[in-house]
Amino acid sequence: MKKQFAVIGLGRFGSSIVKELVDQGMQVLAVDINEDKVNEFAGIATHAAIADTTDENTLRSLGIRNFDHVIVAIGDNIQSSILTTLMLVEIGVSHITVKAQNDYHEKVLNKIGADKVVHPERDMGIRIAHNIVSKNVLDYLELSDEYSIVELQAGPQVHGKTLIELDVRAAYGCNVMAVKRGDDIHVSPAADEALYTGDVIIVIGADRDITRMELDLFDDDTA
Ligand code: ATP
Repeated sequence: MKKQFAVIGLGRFGSSIVKELVDQGMQVLAVDINEDKVNEFAGIATHAAIADTTDENTLRSLGIRNFDHVIVAIGDNIQSSILTTLMLVEIGVSHITVKAQNDYHEKVLNKIGADKVVHPERDMGIRIAHNIVSKNVLDYLELSDEYSIVELQAGPQVHGKTLIELDVRAAYGCNVMAVKRGDDIHVSPAADEALYTGDVIIVIGADRDITRMELDLFDDDTA
């Protein structure tokens, strides 16, 4: 059976979640307090409803408990976001993802029982900053304050060299999880796997080690 999602708040973030879920063939209920926003989504989402989701009875009448996953995308109105999340937790919704507006909001959401708190503006800012600082960093995923997974673009400096020759693990303490070459993906590549210009390598490690390796091996300004 198709998974049932409900998205509460149809601002830019909520709208894009609704559209993407629909594109992926999911059943989506789109909810907003604003009638115009709901009308906009009547032809896009599986169902659309006008509701103030801070009211428990309203949420229950939407049958919200039966949804597999509810996404709270109310950003600006932090009070409404927190109250809605609290109601969803109390009703017993199985999976709740909430967009946080700032770090305090995030803390409260975690405390009251949101399953996942996302902070898209902050996370995208961090990613873009990494990408601006080093053009070889194609993507960046923060695992903790110290550890990350990054996608690095291989340049002429490493062309034809194997992972063991580059000494990625011993010299930099980083692990190459996969090498992407065109449409091919080599997961857990062997030590004798050679890299070629244009390859994308996915590396896990401590931030400082990744940066060191990136500057030594992948920064083509010094090539
Ligand atoms: P974004 O940053 O995603 O663009 P936004 O600034 O456009 O967000 P927000 O003010 O964060 O919009 O709110 C998102 C939506 O949540 C709005 O369309 C708003 O009408 C809706 N919303 C706010 N409070 C409630 C509520 N109590 N119940 C239902 N929807 C609500």
